[in-house]
Amino acid sequence: MSEEKLVVADDMVVSLAYVLTVDGEELDSADASDPLEYLQGHSQIIPGLEQALAGMSVGDELDVVVEAVDAYGEYDEEEVDLIPLDAFPDDFDPTLGDDLQLRDTETGQVFNATVIEVLEDAIKVDFNHPLAGETLTFKVEITGLRPATKDELAHGHVHGADGHSH
Ligand code: ZN
Repeated sequence: MSEEKLVVADDMVVSLAYVLTVDGEELDSADASDPLEYLQGHSQIIPGLEQALAGMSVGDELDVVVEAVDAYGEYDEEEVDLIPLDAFPDDFDPTLGDDLQLRDTETGQVFNATVIEVLEDAIKVDFNHPLAGETLTFKVEITGLRPATKDELAHGHVHGADGHSH
């Protein structure tokens, strides 16, 4: 008797060891001893990587190049804004490269932005994802696979071994 071989498919919990490089520089990684766990088919990872992993089995390794459009999107010049300093508290002291969380006062929605220029009475901020426009290269290995539980499917994410932790 041989068990049916599990492969990466929708609604599977995938354990993934990976190294992410951009322009030859390593930006992020997860070791086989502490892999990333995610739920396939629920947009938890970038679409280009999710598609590339489909059909792989435990122990399989792959080098994947994901274009920006299938990763964090193209860089959008329109996503750069000037914000007057009087919109901030008096003690606000922005520095080039600061990551800010800015709340839309009308909708309450919070946006991540990076300070790209500090002017006398305003700052220029960039709302693009830091990896927008970048081609990502992943070296991946599937280190584990299991079907998701009912709860995990209902929530659209993986629950830890110790039950429900978010
Ligand atoms: Zn949950």
